Order: sequence, then C-alpha cells, then structure tokens
Amino acid sequence: MLSLRNEGVLSMNEINYLRDKLLNNPDKGERLKAVEELTKMASEGNKESAKIIYEMLNKEDDPEIWIKPFEVPPESEKDERKYFVEDESNFYSLSIMPILRKKNISNDQKTIIIKFTKSFIELCEAHDWVIVPGAMTILSYLTDEDDLFNFVDLWLKKETTNINYILSPLKHHPEILQRIILALRDNPDEYKLKFLEIFDWFLINPLPDTTEIIGKELWLNLPSRYKELVRFYYNKKIIDHIYEHLFDELEHYSRDREFGEILTITLPTKHPYLEWLEGFERGAVTSSITPYSALQMVAEKIGLYLKDEVKQIETNKPSHITRRRLERELQREEDGELIPIDKYLGEYFPDDQLVRLYMTEIRNSAKRLNVSVEVLRRVVEFHESAHAIIHLGRDAEGKNFNTGAFKMVDGGIDPSPLHETLAQLLTYHCIKDIPELIECFEKLNKFQPNAYRNWKNFTHIPLERIRNILIGIRQGRIEASFDMFERILI
Ligand SMILES: [Zn+2]
Repeated sequence: MLSLRNEGVLSMNEINYLRDKLLNNPDKGERLKAVEELTKMASEGNKESAKIIYEMLNKEDDPEIWIKPFEVPPESEKDERKYFVEDESNFYSLSIMPILRKKNISNDQKTIIIKFTKSFIELCEAHDWVIVPGAMTILSYLTDEDDLFNFVDLWLKKETTNINYILSPLKHHPEILQRIILALRDNPDEYKLKFLEIFDWFLINPLPDTTEIIGKELWLNLPSRYKELVRFYYNKKIIDHIYEHLFDELEHYSRDREFGEILTITLPTKHPYLEWLEGFERGAVTSSITPYSALQMVAEKIGLYLKDEVKQIETNKPSHITRRRLERELQREEDGELIPIDKYLGEYFPDDQLVRLYMTEIRNSAKRLNVSVEVLRRVVEFHESAHAIIHLGRDAEGKNFNTGAFKMVDGGIDPSPLHETLAQLLTYHCIKDIPELIECFEKLNKFQPNAYRNWKNFTHIPLERIRNILIGIRQGRIEASFDMFERILI
C-alpha cells in the first residue's frame, strides 16, 4: 500500500517537473529530453503526460520538438496518445486537428503523423468509435487521394471494420466515395465480407455525387448473386417491419376496438431502397397511379407529376399523440393547447407512401375551432398530400426525392421546419381562393407549433422559385435545411 502511494506521489512530482521543463524552459535540449520522457509515459497509459504534450503542441514552434511525440509508434490501445486522433467534436477531446490546421507541416512531418494516425486504426482493427472517425478525418486532411483510397480500401475488406466509422468522415471526399463504388462494381468478391454493409451505408447516406452511380453503375452492373443478396437483405428488413407493424395494430385492435369496427391493415410490400434500385432497371418509372384530387391539385400547383401510388386511409383509431395524452391523462390543459397537424390530425408515412387521417381528432378539433369536420379534414388532407408530393412528385427528368434523403431534411429533426414550411405553403396556395378552407386554415394555424408557422413569410414568393429550390435540394445542389431555404429567399 505504502509503496504504491509513494510511487504515485513520486510520479506526480516527476510529471510536474517534466511539465515545467517542457513548457517553460528556453533550453532546447532540455525540452527535447522532457518530451521524450513524457511521450514514453503517455504511451504506457499515463493520461497526464498526454495532456502536457497536448499543451506543448499548442505553443511549441520548434518543429523538431513538436513532432517528437508522433515519432514513437503506439503499441497498445492503452496508449493515451490515442486521444490525439480522437474526433475534435468530442467533449474534452485532445484532437490535434485544430493544431494541424494552424501549423505549417513539412512533407516529412506529414508522413510521420500519417503513420502515427494509421497505427491507431490498425491497433483497434478499425472498430473503435473514439479512434476511427477522428483518425480518418486527420488522414483525409493530410494524405493524398491515392493513399487515402488505398488505406480505406484495405479496411473495407476486413471483417472487423466498422463501415460507418470509416466512411462517414469521407462525406466531403466524393472522389474517394465514387472510387469505392466503382471498386465494388469491378470486384465485388473482394469486399464480400462487408458488401451489404457498405452498400447499405451508401443508401442510408445519399450524397449528390454518389446516389446516381450507385443506381446506374453499381446496381445495373452487379452480378446477379449480389443483387439477390441485396434483395434478400431488404426483403428481410421489410418483413421484420411488417411483423412489428402487425403486432402494433393487433394490440390496439384488441384494446381499443369499438363495436362493428373492422380491422384494416395496410402493409408495405417492398422496401423503398429496393423500389428505388429496381426503378433503374425500368428506367426509373414505377407502378400504378391512384389519383386523389388533393394529391393531384398539389402536384399541379408545384409542377411535379405523380406516378407512384399513394394510399390514403381514414381511421377512427386515436393518433399516437392522443394515445400518449390519454395514457398520461393530460388531455385537459397544457398539451391540449396545441392542435399539431402531423401525428395528431393526420400523418404522412414516407416508407409506406401512405397518408393517414385521424378522424376522431379531426372531429374533436373541428368542434374546438368551430369549423365543419369536412372542411378541416380537407385542409389536413392537403397538408399531408403536400408532404407526399414533395417526396414522390416527379420532375421533368422523372426523378423524385430519395426516401432516405427526404427523411434527413433539416438533419432529420421532427418536425422539420423546412418540410412543414413547404407543406403549409403548398396547402395555402391550393386553398387560398376557397374562403371556407382558407378561413379554417388560418384558425388552425394559431394552434400550430412554430415549425408550422414560418410559411407566412414566403407567400409572396413565386411558386416557380420554390420549385427550383426544391429541385436543387433533391439533387443535392442546395443544402436541405430551413436555414438555407430562408437565406436564399429572404
Ligand atoms: Zn406536416
């Protein structure tokens, strides 16, 4: 016990001494000795030493000294210098990224830091969330395209790799991502351990520079056994989804059933990614058209055409929000103030291409707003149809919104101010000349959460401009956020 404590005290003293020698000593030789000693200690797992080295990196100008800690290769994951390659956005991060941006780095030094960074990825076999994303960011900053591609390519073939950690930091390097897609196309067998994971990553993260080649280059040229693998993978996902959905519906059916109510279940039949991929085989045109007048009116307003099927269901079963309110018995005051359109009066489900209108809530809210049920139903129908058209309506090239990207507008927050502004704005333009509807819409607007009320600032903008921005967002030319939308227009 005693000797342990002594050791601790001793090393604390030693560390303070080294700290002073490294940070406050004009003698270069002394500083060099101190940094060597501290590097050794950090590599053996001493956290304090790593922090002192980090302080030094920030203020030291002499390149011979500040490069020292990177010259010793790490040998275990215990090495505290791993925090130098951590992602800079992490709390208490010791990331060297901000320091690298400030420093003038020679090619020799680059080589040393690259080797150091790669070693950590190798040590954790590319699956540690603390190390891999940050290390990849550093590499993508320091190395050239070929070196970066070769390194990534190597790891994409290994069992242990976490694909998301490796690829996500490369979102700003479309040239690398494109090379990866083409490599998958040319030699899928080489990536067989990770093929589905990589493929799925590209569909979950649709980028303007990759989505098209995923469909046209990779999918259309893929050997049929790989196509089958992909189909099987997404069919399994949809079956899991159906079971969940079925279970949910049955549970509510047995609990909330009213006399005479019939159980109606709509099931998605195909995973949207698969639908999208197979669209390429048919020249990107899909199934039948079911015209709903609200859908058609919105489509015509914004100049898009609807080719895909959108289902619409009216249900008397309570919406999710009502269920939650009932469960908490909070129906009366606080929550009762708002009448949010989505999830309470109606809802659009992009994965199922389905509009659902919650008639019980529409009836109750019509009473509260002193409007007719039919009028309120119609307003909600327009709003949800607008979401469907933004998603599925096709432009002059026959293209619509990739479902993954559609869900990620405004970074995926719910409700998304941009989605709600577009839906409300389109609703407004469809009904502005119908006095009953516009009156109801204005009344309803007073009970909406903020995200649903921004549309008023854009009513004077020609719809053709809104359409152009929407097309730009779908193509990835314009950032899919409300802030950007507002900046462009106001
Ligand atoms: Zn909405």
